[in-house]
Amino acid sequence: MPYQRLLAELDLGFTRLRNRVVMGSMHTGMEDRFWHYPKLAAYFRERARGGVGLIITGGISPNREGWLLPFGGTLNSVFDLRNHRQLTEAVHAEGGKIALQILHAGRYGYQPFVVSASALKSPISKFKPRALSVAGIAKTVRHYARCARLAQRAGYDGIEIMGSEGYLLNQFLCPRTNKRTDDYGGSIGNRLRLAREIVERVRAACGERFIVVYRLSLIDLVEGGNTWDETVQVAKALEAAGVTMFNTGIGWHEARVPTIVTSVPRAAFAELSARLKAAVKVPVIVSNRINTPEVAEALLEQGAGDLVSMARPLLADPEFVVKTAEGRTHEINTCIACNQACLDHTFKNQRASCLVNPRAGRETELVYRPVASPQAARSVAVVGAGPAGLSAATVAAARGHRVTLFDAGASIGGQFNLAMRVPGKEEFSETIRYFQSQLQRHQVDVRLDTRVDAALLAAGAYDDVIVATGIVPRRPAISGIEGPNVLSYVDVLRGAPVGRRVAVIGAGGIGFDVSEFLLHRPGEPLPTPRDTWLDEWGVDLAVRERGGLKAPVTPQPPRDIWLLQRKAGKLGMGLGKTSGWVHRATLARNGVKMLGGVSYREISARGLKIERDGVEEWLEVDTIVVCAGQDSLRDLHPVAAEHVAVQTGGPRYHVIGGAKLAGELDAKRAIREGAEVAAAL
Ligand code: FAD
Ligand code: NAP
Ligand code: SF4
Repeated sequence: MPYQRLLAELDLGFTRLRNRVVMGSMHTGMEDRFWHYPKLAAYFRERARGGVGLIITGGISPNREGWLLPFGGTLNSVFDLRNHRQLTEAVHAEGGKIALQILHAGRYGYQPFVVSASALKSPISKFKPRALSVAGIAKTVRHYARCARLAQRAGYDGIEIMGSEGYLLNQFLCPRTNKRTDDYGGSIGNRLRLAREIVERVRAACGERFIVVYRLSLIDLVEGGNTWDETVQVAKALEAAGVTMFNTGIGWHEARVPTIVTSVPRAAFAELSARLKAAVKVPVIVSNRINTPEVAEALLEQGAGDLVSMARPLLADPEFVVKTAEGRTHEINTCIACNQACLDHTFKNQRASCLVNPRAGRETELVYRPVASPQAARSVAVVGAGPAGLSAATVAAARGHRVTLFDAGASIGGQFNLAMRVPGKEEFSETIRYFQSQLQRHQVDVRLDTRVDAALLAAGAYDDVIVATGIVPRRPAISGIEGPNVLSYVDVLRGAPVGRRVAVIGAGGIGFDVSEFLLHRPGEPLPTPRDTWLDEWGVDLAVRERGGLKAPVTPQPPRDIWLLQRKAGKLGMGLGKTSGWVHRATLARNGVKMLGGVSYREISARGLKIERDGVEEWLEVDTIVVCAGQDSLRDLHPVAAEHVAVQTGGPRYHVIGGAKLAGELDAKRAIREGAEVAAAL
């Protein structure tokens, strides 16, 4: 049987998991408010129905000091049980198992009551923590045990103790943040004391027949983190204290090494889980950048772990497991690790969702109801097979409408065909593959190489026309812009020759992507092989030095690049909160000169003349690449240029994606608008 390891049961002695898929903890924002619990229950129910073996909730604090945000989700009294029972009952009704993650944020808390091992402020929170006293430590241990016991009473099958990513327990474990001179500081034996006491007290409070997962940081990726030998010592102590299994944690939140964005090679850190597995007897969960059943199965086969944790992939597709079991892996809506609708939302205090699956976190609100009867099915033309049109066409057809999808190009995907050529964004092709499978499954009539005009639409006598024609790249009015040394990002990404010295006009997401594209040397493999990537980011998986850091290797960049914008200030501020810094760091490491406050004066054979701070200068470049944003393509139906349907007695028009509004456009909005319009037909 394919995927036999991934789909195999796991017998823990006192309970069984139906397979090896763990939905890793992911803060959705719904945990923090009691009125969101019915929505959270629907979200978990859908994932349990899709076959996940063990679901781990987003982080819940054991007390007020541990809050991530003011009034964050807490389980510290019997009055909280009612909320949590909604979650456990929903998951159990679908045959799944669920564990509560207990997360004490320590100095990462963004609130005034923060505590830590020592009074050292973190670089990512403005609140300076108070060092816990010995009495405060004892109280914290009791609060963990109380939280675990309440979780058991709420019907959870277990808990996960969050001991990684730089949160409180990690802060006690590492010399970086633990400067104590009492029994909880100094030697590793002392630094692990708090974690060990918590596991012992939780086990004593909840008994032997309760899952206790400990998420252990296997590589801290910060100076002053632990060494591998210390990590193994911690694992052995916690195993002896009663842990049922270990989950893998990689890197602190303040680390300057990316651990989950798209450009991180798949399963880049799995080797560490394999080494932990060899050092302990209890099962180990492998995690980070595992997003397909193939990768998950291969890791189990190689012995990298006993279970596989996937969090974002299950936001992207709640049916991941059932599709795997039914041999429909080509139908999985793969997480492309963009972070745009999940982590970026969480960090902005918004409810998490998913770029490729706008229903995630909105299961009770965005509902795809089948049409009432075949007679109620509408005849729908979707013009444009970019993300917006694909989303609209597939949702409408899945509901039972008769859908014809047109595109002027030779393939579906729209701008995603360009995005997937950017190094580190190869996985955007998975979204096109997913939509292709849905077009076939729901029998959409796809007509490629067909530029739609008003006559074609009239001949089709459609009930609804969904205009998803996207955008045209903007060409700014700069003297010399028509010259032979000027290219658009479209030309460049399609392979037009580019010189050695390049100026990029416009530093939005596409300006950054094009700069990264131009840093790639022809012939170098893509996606970047794991070992090259580890060298470039200075990661030593042997964790010889504290934190697993080493000097990064930066090869000579193949081009001199100037990335420019008119706005004053730092470039890339509009990029995603959790991924923008990775793009900025990559360009900076490769010597890209990032200039803000630029006025473009003139282009000639000499290059690009700019003015900054009242001083004019020639950038003597061979090629100028224009990435100056985009304008909506609205030639199809000028009257339908606005957001809503225009009633003219003919079909109902709906305008979505880039065709509706080019500013602020991204694939998240395009796919969501497509789904919403199709859900409402
Ligand atoms: P498009 O993708 O532009 O699709 C429109 C389609 O309509 C095209 O296929 C076109 O051929 C077709 N069409 C136009 N007129 C007609 C007609 N008359 N008849 C038939 N067909 C027609 N977004 C993100 O969210 N995250 C990213 O990381 C990201 N990276 C990107 C990287 C690059 C290099 C690029 C270029 C874009 C990136 N984007 C990213 C932007 C994202 O791709 C767009 O926001 C998204 O594609 C917009 O979707 P859309 O369907 O509205 O338009
Ligand atoms: P964008 O983000 O709007 O950036 C356009 C850039 O061009 C800005 O730097 C802007 O800065 C400049 N510009 C605008 N008008 C100009 C003009 N007339 N002359 C010169 N410069 C001008 O658009 P984009 O880069 O084309 O990206 C399109 C969409 O795709 C974005 O909304 C983005 O969200 C999405 N995308 C996202 C990612 C990602 O990683 N999340 C990656 C790629 C694309 P100044 O006005 O300051 O010069
Ligand atoms: Fe994955 Fe992006 Fe969806 Fe997050 S928003 S789950 S990273 S596809």
